[in-house]
Amino acid sequence: MRTADVKCPECGTMNNSLFLEETDGLMECDCCGCTVQLRKMAISLSSKEEHRWQIIRFWPAARLAV
Ligand SMILES: [Zn+2]
Repeated sequence: MRTADVKCPECGTMNNSLFLEETDGLMECDCCGCTVQLRKMAISLSSKEEHRWQIIRFWPAARLAV
């Protein structure tokens, strides 16, 4: 299973080894607790097909807190 490293758009913390394929691109920041929605984007490198996860939106932790 491939993992991804995502930088939190809210606090800038790197969240490493995320299983984004399993969570449909959703991740929760370890540091600030915000929720981030990512989309898998295909990119072409010189010799191989790759993909990376692009942030499409996020919800600050304050809004999710009850
Ligand atoms: Zn964060």
